[in-house]
Amino acid sequence: MPQWTTEPPKNPSGYTLRILRTPATKPLTAIVTTTDVLGCNTHYVNHRTLPCEGSETCPFCAEGHSWRWHGYLAAMLTDSLEHILFEFTATASLTFANYQQLHENMRGCLFKASRPSGRTNGRVVIQARPADEQRTRLPEPPDVKAILCHIWNIQNTLATERHIPDRLGNIISIETGNGKQTSKPPH
Ligand SMILES: [Zn+2]
Repeated sequence: MPQWTTEPPKNPSGYTLRILRTPATKPLTAIVTTTDVLGCNTHYVNHRTLPCEGSETCPFCAEGHSWRWHGYLAAMLTDSLEHILFEFTATASLTFANYQQLHENMRGCLFKASRPSGRTNGRVVIQARPADEQRTRLPEPPDVKAILCHIWNIQNTLATERHIPDRLGNIISIETGNGKQTSKPPH
């Protein structure tokens, strides 16, 4: 007999969420499920955002790539109810920092992220307010750090293989290192 269940297994292997940035034309509206912002310095290399491992050991720093901080929050899109990781810059994070100052906790924050200019790299404006009525019914927050490490697994196996995340962070292919970027694998 089938083993019937009413929901899929919790965090099956390979569990991941799409990484979404603020779209150019249509605002992104979501409710935060995690309690805190998680961020790190990143490089944009070969059309991918990859973590900086610190100037001492980072191969991208050694190659002279500039870095910038990115923050991440897990959130549920209000229209599709899809759980995603929202990626944002230090400037955009100021609104979240103010929200956290006021409300102590990011969970339950209803935010709308938009680019008033309509351009892909236009300035991001975040509007945020509590969605208290949803708070207790929100899904459990995912382990954002574990998911980012999964997406960025490249960094741990750079010398032998490369998992290539697509624009949305899904791993779409694996490529053998070509030697250029594998000459100094990070720790
Ligand atoms: Zn670096």
